[in-house]
Amino acid sequence: MGKKLTKSDIKERFDIYNQKYFEGKLGKCKFFLFPKNIYTFGKYTDITQKDGSILSKIYINQNLVVTEENLESIIVHEMIHMYVRTIENVRFDGLLGHGCHFRKHQKRLNKKFGLNIEIHPNLECIDNKKRIPKLWEKVLLWLIDR
Ligand SMILES: [Zn+2]
Repeated sequence: MGKKLTKSDIKERFDIYNQKYFEGKLGKCKFFLFPKNIYTFGKYTDITQKDGSILSKIYINQNLVVTEENLESIIVHEMIHMYVRTIENVRFDGLLGHGCHFRKHQKRLNKKFGLNIEIHPNLECIDNKKRIPKLWEKVLLWLIDR
């Protein structure tokens, strides 16, 4: 492996997963890469624009080891947040966005497609082997991730 993650890697997969897992319902999304030293693999944020539409942004950590399985589980995780927010129009889905709406999709996708969507994934990083976050890092991760 050792391949460097790019925004188009994310975009290409977003389009495929959108068709495969969300009936192509998800709209436009912007993609960003995280700096490496952040203790979460992905992040979803949204901004309500002047015309009332929602602008979605998905961030993926460059420290993620680039494999299809890793990309799929992290990108689809963030896409669930996007679906809950933009399609189901849920503003607040439990603490940090992993409430019943999120879990409903997590269960559906893991069961039906054999995906490995986790609330707090602990995957292998590029610059340090699979590591267990310290307590303060977990707290930070809960604050950042949603
Ligand atoms: Zn999340």
